[in-house]
Amino acid sequence: MDHSFDTTRETALRLDQQDSMAGYKQEFYFPQHNGTDTIYFCGNSLGLQSKGVQEAVQQELNDWKDHAIAGFSKAKYPWLQYQEPYKPVLAKLMGCLETEVTIMNGLTVNLHLLMNTFYKPANGRFKVMMEAGAFPSDQYAVETQVKQYGYDPADAIIEIKPRDGEKTLHTEDIIAAINLAGNELAMVLFGGINYYSGQLFDLKAITAAAHETGAIAGFDLAHAAGNVSLKLHDWQVDFAVWCTYKYLNGGPGAVGGAYVHERFAADPQTPRLAGWWGNDEESRFRMEKGFIAKPNASGWNVSTAQVMNMAALRASLVLFEQVGFEQLVQKSKQLTAYLEYLLKQLKNLDFEIITPGDPEARGAQLSLYFKARGKEIHTKMLDNGIVVDYREPGVIRVAPAPMYCSFEDVYKFYQILQSMN
Ligand SMILES: *Cc1c(COP(=O)(O)O)cnc(C)c1O
Repeated sequence: MDHSFDTTRETALRLDQQDSMAGYKQEFYFPQHNGTDTIYFCGNSLGLQSKGVQEAVQQELNDWKDHAIAGFSKAKYPWLQYQEPYKPVLAKLMGCLETEVTIMNGLTVNLHLLMNTFYKPANGRFKVMMEAGAFPSDQYAVETQVKQYGYDPADAIIEIKPRDGEKTLHTEDIIAAINLAGNELAMVLFGGINYYSGQLFDLKAITAAAHETGAIAGFDLAHAAGNVSLKLHDWQVDFAVWCTYKYLNGGPGAVGGAYVHERFAADPQTPRLAGWWGNDEESRFRMEKGFIAKPNASGWNVSTAQVMNMAALRASLVLFEQVGFEQLVQKSKQLTAYLEYLLKQLKNLDFEIITPGDPEARGAQLSLYFKARGKEIHTKMLDNGIVVDYREPGVIRVAPAPMYCSFEDVYKFYQILQSMN
């Protein structure tokens, strides 16, 4: 990959010309600003609608209209096995076996379901370790989980904070904290990528350290799914959950994803909160007592597949399948490196890139902390048709999603900052 950058517009255009995926931008709808497409750097919050979505949703409307109850077997994508075709693509994106992945519910619901399976405090092992400043929904989930077992969250939740004066965590500090918690530690539950700092954690090292002390390793991959390379199976991660409406472009509130390592997923005795959709298909419609779990991650499915909520994701995953995920990640690294390079040329603006500089410790997001002019800069971006988000006290998160962002988009962002430099 070409990483020889400079600050000319010609370079941006050359990089776009060299980009074999550049055409995918045409596959998406962009919000309009003064009659033109915006530049969209918020794919880390809500991915764009791809042009195949309407047809995918229409297909289900037609099948419902034409077949009603018979659609469970006669629909083009039979509703009875609706989740199945998603598994091969998701398995590639998450780095796991097809039998280890499913889609269902929403992210936080899945977090509760999998904590129900994996958080079983016993013999003085009751603590859960998280990164400080985890996404609020995750904090609420863990807080209420530990309370269910009668623990005070202040005792049961260990939060790992950055060193004084720093904004991201050192892997060695996380591992030291895991070792220190030792046999009191029941579970490590980290974000894969912290939504605020953009830091990608070393999931492999964290998992190994958790296992060494006898704890479970689970991850919230909301900001990692469809964004960075993952090897959940090989890393021996116990469980993971994510949403599909960020980098995966599944649409607002789209279905959540869940991963359970096969050593638990294949065992129907693994505890869980069950429903009929997780029951073995052979016996499901006998309507008898006695749950028989499917011997794979679908054994955690509870309710009937939410077809309408999954259809848009099907259209989006087609694009991930076509482009090839490794290629997408390569472009992403180049695009983010280019953004970083340009930002570093702005010597007079007072800001700090809080996302790690190491390309292996981040995905397609740089979080910029403007000590003074954050709000002003955010407004200026929106006024110029560039969608970025703003978080107090002055953080602008810029996520050039490689599926539909170009080098020229990044260059335009830079030019606006430069005009304020
Ligand atoms: C986006 C996000 C969520 C949102 O959870 P939902 O249940 O899908 O609303 C939760 N956790 C993290 C880390 C996120 O980034």
